[in-house]
Amino acid sequence: MTSTNQCLLCHHEVFTEFPELSELKSVTSDCRPWSHGNTILVCSHCGLVQKPIDGQWQQEVAAIYSQYAPYSLSAGREQPVFPGGGSANYSQARSVVILKHLRESVTLPPQGTLLDVGCGNGAFLKAVSHSFPQWQLSGFEQNRLHEEEIMQINGVANFYASLTEINQIFDVIALIHVLEHILQPLSFLTNLREKLNPSGILLIQLPNLAENPFDLVVKDHSSHFTKRTLKWLVEATGFNTITVATDWVTKEISLVATPTAMPIQSTAFESLEVREASQLVKKNSEWLQNLVEHAHEMATTTDQFGIFGTAIAGSWLAGILEEKVKFFVEEDGQKLGKLYLGKPVLALAELPKESVVYIALPTKIAQAIYRRIQPLCPQVKFVLPNQSVNG
Ligand SMILES: [Zn+2]
Repeated sequence: MTSTNQCLLCHHEVFTEFPELSELKSVTSDCRPWSHGNTILVCSHCGLVQKPIDGQWQQEVAAIYSQYAPYSLSAGREQPVFPGGGSANYSQARSVVILKHLRESVTLPPQGTLLDVGCGNGAFLKAVSHSFPQWQLSGFEQNRLHEEEIMQINGVANFYASLTEINQIFDVIALIHVLEHILQPLSFLTNLREKLNPSGILLIQLPNLAENPFDLVVKDHSSHFTKRTLKWLVEATGFNTITVATDWVTKEISLVATPTAMPIQSTAFESLEVREASQLVKKNSEWLQNLVEHAHEMATTTDQFGIFGTAIAGSWLAGILEEKVKFFVEEDGQKLGKLYLGKPVLALAELPKESVVYIALPTKIAQAIYRRIQPLCPQVKFVLPNQSVNG
C-alpha cells in the first residue's frame, strides 16, 4: 500500500502502512490519554517509522502542545529512570544519568557553553549547572512558559524561543526527547549544526522503538527511531557518531556525535533494514493490541483492578480501560496520596487484598519489576503483559 505523504527523513513517498493502531486510543507525551489513534507508516526507502502528518494530526498535536504540562503529577519534577531496568527499588533523575554517561564518553572541560534544545522546565540544565558551575548555559523552548524558572538556574545566560534568535556558538548542544517531535528533523539538525563549535558535541536522547512498543501510541511523536535511523539522520546532517547506546537509560537511544566536514551520501540504505523496520512495527502493534485485550480480560476478573505506573504506558492503558481501572500503583513518594485521572495513587503497602494490578510496561522491565514486587505483596495478583490468563 502507498500513501501521498513525504518521508520525514528522506522525503521519498512510498510507505508500507500499518493501520492496526488507528483503532486504539493514544496518549500524549506528557502522559494524558488521547481520544484518537494513528496509522503507522514505514518508509520503503529509508525505513523510518513515522506517523502520517495530515491536517487532523496537526490539529490534534497543536491542541496537545497548547496545554502541555510535563511531569504534572510530580509537580514538575522529572521522570525518574530505573537502574537495572526495573530491578532496583531506587530511581535516579534521568538528567543526572545522562550527564554521567556523557562525561564517560567525552572529555568536557571545566569551562564551556551549552545549549539545551527542548529544555522544558530545566531538568537537564539544573544537572549541568550542578556538575559544571563554570559553564555558560542556554535553554531553548518554543513556549515561554518556564522562561523565568530557566533564567534563575545558576549559569543560565540565555533563553531562546526560536533558532533565529541564537547569535552564539556552543560547545555542547543537547536534544533530550526532542527529535521525535520535529517534523523536519533533517533541516532542523542541519541548522543546529551551524550553532555548534566545529569540535563541539551533539547529545541526543529519544525513545528506542526496538525496546519500547508504547512509543507508537504517543500521539505527538511524529518519528519513531531505531539506532540505525537515528545514526543515519545525524550522519546525513554532517556529524560523526562517537557513540550510540541503548544502555544509558532503559528504553532510550542515546547518541553522542561531533561535526564532520564530510556528511554521508543519502543513498546508503539497505532494503533488508527496511524490512526489519516493518517487522518491528508489526510485532509492536500486535503486542499492544494483545495487551489491551489481555488487560480487558484481567479487569473483568476483579472489582479491584489497578495499573502499575502513571507514565506514558499506564496513562494510555487507563484511557482505554476507563472505569474498569480503580486505582494506580506508584513507588514514587511524590505521587502518592494524589488523584490521577480521577483515581487514587496507592503505594504497594496500601493495595486492597485480592486486587489485580497490571504492569503495563515493556516486557523486560515489567518482568524485573514483577520479580521485585510480587514477593512484597503476596495478597495482590500482579499481571505481566500478555501473560496467559491462568499463568
Ligand atoms: Zn524515508
